[in-house]
Amino acid sequence: MDQSKLFNNCRNRWANVEDYFGFASAALMQAAKSIAASEDKSKEEITQKLELLKQYADRIAKLDVMCKSRARVSKELFNKSKDAPLEPGQIKEIYEQGLENTQQTVDQTSTSNHPELINIERILQKVSDGMTDNDIEEDLTTQQAPTLCPILRCALDNPMKNTECGHIYSLKGVIQLLMHDNAPKGRDVPETIAEVPNHFSARCPQFGCNKLLRPSSLKRDFATELTQRQQQGSAQEPESVEIEDF
Ligand SMILES: [Zn+2]
Repeated sequence: MDQSKLFNNCRNRWANVEDYFGFASAALMQAAKSIAASEDKSKEEITQKLELLKQYADRIAKLDVMCKSRARVSKELFNKSKDAPLEPGQIKEIYEQGLENTQQTVDQTSTSNHPELINIERILQKVSDGMTDNDIEEDLTTQQAPTLCPILRCALDNPMKNTECGHIYSLKGVIQLLMHDNAPKGRDVPETIAEVPNHFSARCPQFGCNKLLRPSSLKRDFATELTQRQQQGSAQEPESVEIEDF
Protein backbone atom coordinates (compact mmCIF):
# COMPACT_ATOMS: atom_id res chain seq x y z
CA MET A 1 0.00 0.00 0.00
CA ASP A 2 1.36 3.41 -0.86
CA GLN A 3 2.30 5.85 1.84
CA SER A 4 -0.38 8.49 1.36
CA LYS A 5 -3.10 5.81 1.40
CA LEU A 6 -1.73 4.56 4.68
CA PHE A 7 -1.83 8.05 6.21
CA ASN A 8 -5.36 8.53 4.91
CA ASN A 9 -6.43 5.30 6.61
CA CYS A 10 -4.84 6.56 9.81
CA ARG A 11 -6.77 9.80 9.57
CA ASN A 12 -10.07 7.95 9.06
CA ARG A 13 -9.37 5.70 11.98
CA TRP A 14 -8.78 8.67 14.29
CA ALA A 15 -11.96 10.25 12.99
CA ASN A 16 -13.83 7.08 14.04
CA VAL A 17 -12.35 7.29 17.53
CA GLU A 18 -13.48 10.92 17.68
CA ASP A 19 -17.03 9.75 16.92
CA TYR A 20 -16.91 7.35 19.87
CA PHE A 21 -15.97 10.22 22.17
CA GLY A 22 -18.88 12.20 20.76
CA PHE A 23 -21.33 9.42 21.61
CA ALA A 24 -19.70 8.86 25.00
CA SER A 25 -20.20 12.55 25.86
CA ALA A 26 -23.83 12.43 24.71
CA ALA A 27 -24.47 9.30 26.81
CA LEU A 28 -22.87 10.99 29.84
CA MET A 29 -25.23 13.94 29.44
CA GLN A 30 -28.23 11.62 29.32
CA ALA A 31 -27.04 9.91 32.49
CA ALA A 32 -26.52 13.28 34.22
CA LYS A 33 -30.06 14.39 33.36
CA SER A 34 -31.69 11.21 34.59
CA ILE A 35 -29.65 11.25 37.82
CA ALA A 36 -30.66 14.88 38.44
CA ALA A 37 -34.31 13.97 37.93
CA SER A 38 -34.30 10.80 40.04
CA GLU A 39 -36.79 11.07 42.87
CA ASP A 40 -35.51 8.30 45.10
CA LYS A 41 -32.07 9.84 45.77
CA SER A 42 -31.01 12.45 48.29
CA LYS A 43 -29.52 15.75 47.20
CA GLU A 44 -26.10 14.58 48.49
CA GLU A 45 -26.27 11.35 46.52
CA ILE A 46 -27.24 13.18 43.36
CA THR A 47 -24.45 15.75 43.77
CA GLN A 48 -21.90 13.01 44.39
CA LYS A 49 -22.91 11.08 41.28
CA LEU A 50 -22.93 14.21 39.13
CA GLU A 51 -19.45 15.17 40.36
CA LEU A 52 -18.23 11.74 39.27
CA LEU A 53 -19.80 12.18 35.82
CA LYS A 54 -18.12 15.57 35.60
CA GLN A 55 -14.74 13.89 36.09
CA TYR A 56 -15.52 11.43 33.30
CA ALA A 57 -16.62 14.27 31.03
CA ASP A 58 -13.35 16.07 31.75
CA ARG A 59 -11.34 12.98 30.86
CA ILE A 60 -13.30 12.49 27.64
CA ALA A 61 -12.76 16.15 26.72
CA LYS A 62 -8.97 15.77 27.16
CA LEU A 63 -8.84 12.52 25.17
CA ASP A 64 -10.94 14.15 22.48
CA VAL A 65 -8.39 16.95 22.03
CA MET A 66 -5.55 14.41 21.79
CA CYS A 67 -7.49 12.37 19.30
CA LYS A 68 -8.22 15.39 17.11
CA SER A 69 -4.51 16.24 17.08
CA ARG A 70 -3.61 12.79 15.81
CA ALA A 71 -6.23 13.09 13.11
CA ARG A 72 -4.75 16.46 12.15
CA VAL A 73 -1.18 15.09 12.02
CA SER A 74 -2.33 12.15 9.87
CA LYS A 75 -4.03 14.60 7.52
CA GLU A 76 -0.87 16.66 7.25
CA LEU A 77 1.19 13.54 6.52
CA PHE A 78 -1.39 12.49 3.94
CA ASN A 79 -1.28 15.87 2.17
CA LYS A 80 2.52 16.04 2.17
CA SER A 81 2.98 12.49 0.88
CA LYS A 82 0.48 12.83 -2.00
CA ASP A 83 3.06 13.77 -4.63
CA ALA A 84 6.09 11.86 -3.41
CA PRO A 85 6.71 9.50 -0.46
CA LEU A 86 8.23 11.15 2.61
CA GLU A 87 11.58 10.14 4.08
CA PRO A 88 11.41 8.46 7.52
CA GLY A 89 13.14 11.51 9.05
CA GLN A 90 10.51 13.86 7.61
CA ILE A 91 7.65 11.69 8.91
CA LYS A 92 9.15 11.66 12.37
CA GLU A 93 9.60 15.43 12.34
CA ILE A 94 6.06 16.22 11.16
CA TYR A 95 4.56 13.75 13.62
CA GLU A 96 6.50 14.91 16.64
CA GLN A 97 6.02 18.58 15.85
CA GLY A 98 2.28 18.06 15.43
CA LEU A 99 1.91 16.22 18.71
CA GLU A 100 4.01 18.78 20.54
CA ASN A 101 1.72 21.55 19.31
CA THR A 102 -1.29 19.68 20.60
CA GLN A 103 0.26 18.99 23.96
CA GLN A 104 0.67 22.74 24.30
CA THR A 105 -2.98 23.25 23.36
CA VAL A 106 -4.11 20.63 25.89
CA ASP A 107 -1.97 22.28 28.58
CA GLN A 108 -3.12 25.79 27.77
CA THR A 109 -6.80 25.35 27.09
CA SER A 110 -8.94 24.47 29.99
CA THR A 111 -11.37 21.69 29.15
CA SER A 112 -13.83 23.50 31.41
CA ASN A 113 -15.34 25.19 28.36
CA HIS A 114 -16.29 21.82 26.84
CA PRO A 115 -20.11 21.89 26.34
CA GLU A 116 -20.79 18.67 28.30
CA LEU A 117 -18.84 19.95 31.29
CA ILE A 118 -20.72 23.24 31.21
CA ASN A 119 -24.04 21.38 31.08
CA ILE A 120 -23.20 19.06 33.97
CA GLU A 121 -22.03 22.11 35.93
CA ARG A 122 -25.38 23.75 35.22
CA ILE A 123 -27.32 20.71 36.43
CA LEU A 124 -25.17 20.59 39.58
CA GLN A 125 -25.96 24.25 40.21
CA LYS A 126 -29.68 23.58 39.89
CA VAL A 127 -29.47 20.68 42.32
CA SER A 128 -27.56 22.79 44.84
CA ASP A 129 -30.06 25.64 44.42
CA GLY A 130 -32.64 23.17 45.63
CA MET A 131 -34.78 23.03 42.55
CA THR A 132 -37.60 20.55 42.74
CA ASP A 133 -37.67 17.47 40.53
CA ASN A 134 -40.38 19.10 38.47
CA ASP A 135 -38.29 22.21 37.84
CA ILE A 136 -35.36 20.13 36.65
CA GLU A 137 -37.60 17.90 34.56
CA GLU A 138 -39.19 20.93 32.94
CA ASP A 139 -35.86 22.59 32.28
CA LEU A 140 -34.41 19.45 30.72
CA THR A 141 -37.36 18.61 28.53
CA THR A 142 -37.49 22.08 26.99
CA GLN A 143 -34.20 21.20 25.34
CA GLN A 144 -35.66 18.23 23.55
CA ALA A 145 -34.24 17.84 20.09
CA PRO A 146 -36.44 18.46 17.04
CA THR A 147 -37.26 15.57 14.75
CA LEU A 148 -37.70 17.44 11.45
CA CYS A 149 -35.09 19.04 9.21
CA PRO A 150 -36.10 22.68 8.56
CA ILE A 151 -34.51 22.52 5.10
CA LEU A 152 -35.72 19.19 3.70
CA ARG A 153 -38.97 19.19 5.75
CA CYS A 154 -38.64 15.49 6.49
CA ALA A 155 -37.24 13.36 9.32
CA LEU A 156 -33.82 14.45 10.54
CA ASP A 157 -31.10 12.30 9.05
CA ASN A 158 -27.45 12.59 10.14
CA PRO A 159 -28.26 15.60 12.36
CA MET A 160 -25.83 18.54 12.24
CA LYS A 161 -25.95 21.35 14.79
CA ASN A 162 -25.22 24.98 13.99
CA THR A 163 -23.02 26.12 16.87
CA GLU A 164 -24.03 29.76 16.17
CA CYS A 165 -27.67 29.23 17.17
CA GLY A 166 -28.11 25.57 18.18
CA HIS A 167 -30.51 24.75 15.35
CA ILE A 168 -30.31 21.29 13.84
CA TYR A 169 -30.52 20.20 10.20
CA SER A 170 -30.02 17.01 8.21
CA LEU A 171 -26.52 16.67 6.76
CA LYS A 172 -27.91 16.34 3.23
CA GLY A 173 -30.17 19.39 3.65
CA VAL A 174 -27.48 21.67 4.98
CA ILE A 175 -25.04 20.70 2.22
CA GLN A 176 -27.75 21.35 -0.39
CA LEU A 177 -28.50 24.76 1.13
CA LEU A 178 -24.83 25.81 1.23
CA MET A 179 -24.25 24.64 -2.36
CA HIS A 180 -27.48 26.21 -3.64
CA ASP A 181 -26.64 29.62 -2.17
CA ASN A 182 -22.98 29.72 -3.18
CA ALA A 183 -21.98 27.35 -5.97
CA PRO A 184 -22.70 27.83 -9.67
CA LYS A 185 -25.66 25.78 -10.89
CA GLY A 186 -24.98 22.22 -11.94
CA ARG A 187 -22.03 21.76 -9.64
CA ASP A 188 -21.82 18.33 -7.97
CA VAL A 189 -23.28 18.25 -4.46
CA PRO A 190 -20.68 16.68 -2.12
CA GLU A 191 -21.54 14.09 0.51
CA THR A 192 -19.58 15.52 3.43
CA ILE A 193 -19.29 18.97 5.00
CA ALA A 194 -15.49 18.74 4.70
CA GLU A 195 -15.86 18.90 0.91
CA VAL A 196 -17.92 22.12 1.01
CA PRO A 197 -15.62 25.15 0.54
CA ASN A 198 -15.08 26.90 3.84
CA HIS A 199 -16.06 30.38 2.65
CA PHE A 200 -19.57 29.21 1.64
CA SER A 201 -22.31 30.56 3.90
CA ALA A 202 -26.09 30.82 4.22
CA ARG A 203 -28.69 32.10 6.68
CA CYS A 204 -30.15 29.65 9.19
CA PRO A 205 -33.47 28.52 7.65
CA GLN A 206 -35.16 28.04 11.03
CA PHE A 207 -38.17 30.35 11.28
CA GLY A 208 -37.28 33.50 13.22
CA CYS A 209 -33.54 32.79 13.25
CA ASN A 210 -31.19 34.93 11.24
CA LYS A 211 -27.83 33.54 12.30
CA LEU A 212 -25.10 32.66 9.86
CA LEU A 213 -24.54 29.10 8.77
CA ARG A 214 -21.03 28.10 7.67
CA PRO A 215 -19.25 24.76 7.23
CA SER A 216 -16.99 25.63 10.19
CA SER A 217 -19.96 26.33 12.48
CA LEU A 218 -21.55 22.92 11.87
CA LYS A 219 -20.97 20.08 14.29
CA ARG A 220 -22.24 16.53 14.17
CA ASP A 221 -25.06 16.36 16.72
CA PHE A 222 -24.25 13.24 18.73
CA ALA A 223 -26.95 13.85 21.34
CA THR A 224 -29.77 13.84 18.77
CA GLU A 225 -28.20 10.92 16.92
CA LEU A 226 -27.97 8.91 20.13
CA THR A 227 -31.64 9.59 20.95
CA GLN A 228 -32.63 8.57 17.42
CA ARG A 229 -30.68 5.31 17.68
CA GLN A 230 -32.26 4.54 21.04
CA GLN A 231 -35.73 5.17 19.65
CA GLN A 232 -35.03 3.00 16.63
CA GLY A 233 -33.65 0.32 18.95
CA SER A 234 -36.77 0.26 21.11
CA ALA A 235 -39.01 0.32 18.02
CA GLN A 236 -37.23 -2.73 16.66
CA GLU A 237 -37.50 -4.73 19.86
CA PRO A 238 -41.02 -6.14 19.45
CA GLU A 239 -40.07 -7.37 15.99
CA SER A 240 -37.15 -9.43 17.26
CA VAL A 241 -39.42 -10.97 19.92
CA GLU A 242 -41.82 -12.05 17.23
CA ILE A 243 -39.03 -13.71 15.30
CA GLU A 244 -37.95 -15.58 18.40
CA ASP A 245 -41.51 -16.74 19.05
CA PHE A 246 -41.71 -17.99 15.52
ZN1 LIG B 1 -30.69 29.10 13.69
